[in-house]
Amino acid sequence: HDYSKEDIFRIVEEEDVEFIRLQFTDIFGVLKNVAITSSQLQKALDNKCMFDGSALEGIVRFEESDMYLHPDLNTFEIFPWRPQQGRVARFICDVYKTDGTPFEGDPRYILKKVLKEADEMGYTFNVGPECEFFLFHTDDDGLPTTITHEKAGYFDLGPSDRAENVRRDMILTLEDMGFEIESSHHETAPAQHEIDFKYDEALATADNLMTFKLTVKTIAQRHGLHATFMPKPTMNSCGSGMHVNMSLADKDTGRDIFDRTDGKLGLSEDAYHFIAGLMKHMKAITAIANPLVNSYKRMVPGFEAPLYIAWSATNRSPLIRIPASRGQSTRIELRSPDPTANPYLTLAVCLAAGLDGIKNKLAAPSGIDCNIFDMTDDERKFVGIDSLPVDLYEALQCLREDKFIMNVLGPHVSKKYLEAKEQEWNSYRRQVTQWELDEYLNKY
Ligand code: GLN
Ligand code: MG
Ligand code: MG
Ligand code: MG
Repeated sequence: HDYSKEDIFRIVEEEDVEFIRLQFTDIFGVLKNVAITSSQLQKALDNKCMFDGSALEGIVRFEESDMYLHPDLNTFEIFPWRPQQGRVARFICDVYKTDGTPFEGDPRYILKKVLKEADEMGYTFNVGPECEFFLFHTDDDGLPTTITHEKAGYFDLGPSDRAENVRRDMILTLEDMGFEIESSHHETAPAQHEIDFKYDEALATADNLMTFKLTVKTIAQRHGLHATFMPKPTMNSCGSGMHVNMSLADKDTGRDIFDRTDGKLGLSEDAYHFIAGLMKHMKAITAIANPLVNSYKRMVPGFEAPLYIAWSATNRSPLIRIPASRGQSTRIELRSPDPTANPYLTLAVCLAAGLDGIKNKLAAPSGIDCNIFDMTDDERKFVGIDSLPVDLYEALQCLREDKFIMNVLGPHVSKKYLEAKEQEWNSYRRQVTQWELDEYLNKY
């Protein structure tokens, strides 16, 4: 969209919009909003709507935290699932302080900061995500369970895929909201699905991911199901990932700069530098891209999720894959992020790492053309393949040590993020789990 204020007033009038949600995303990737009625539209468009900015940190602060929501006009969208009269629309907003400057704690601002840097280097950052999720039954109280009655697997169809109509409804709703859906399929695990929408510039993609997750959850609920993006809800099946396909385009010509017909594997030097930058900062990126205690339960052998820091153009086992298409579809697929990651922060740190590789002409190691999981620890060590952090604690330590990534997040977000995530880890590590009781109580 390219909406003016006049367009917005007109649409609100014509479409009988009564409620407007002013949305923002907290640093933990949770979508939030303040609802206003359309009588307050002028005030909202004048950037005069205030809220408690401490909501971005997931805590209530008692000191001064009045902040302004600046609606991004181009994100105006009507929710198709709300009533057709007195309709509900939303804006995605930027967060500003009372002194008129952007709030450093706003994830959207952090992504914009890195995008500006890419723009100064002459690049547009394009991103296409592949978001996976589970659909589970709810119990008699309407609360989510991990129960499913279906047994379908990778690319299965109905009748064993029991959610065809749910996915159909999700896709039609997303299309109503301007999404271009490219494909959808049943994923490997029972009740696991993937819906892929078209790549876009990074800021739009991050916004789209927030809208996508809200829509999927809302439509699932309408079908009496619970959609979860939790990375590993069931122990014995695959977890949910969010592969991120990234490319840089020349901002004037739109040409994909990772593509080079006479380059090694059809890739440009800058593509290799970008890969090298990603690999250099990968451990710190993991703290952002895999933000939960549970994220690390997905990244175990045997479930198609990456464990080692390596890249390949021929094999799907590594962290970074170069899909076979070239030309304008040449891209780098990062396979570690999961759908609980804050998309703004994740794309910010990935882009910054890639640009670091380009600026400093970092050299990528050779690609790995075999299944990394078939190699022994010694073989991996011999060829210099490092591992991703094995748990949230290790990832947070790696983030703390990577001054470059800490700087991308800025002092505010890095401090709040580390504090909250270390608390999350400490709360987790006190737990005595059923596994421990089963394993030890009787034996010792
Ligand atoms: N679910 C897998 C993951 O955890 C990905 C499987 C796939 O898309 N082929 O990343
Ligand atoms: Mg996919
Ligand atoms: Mg998939
Ligand atoms: Mg993929």
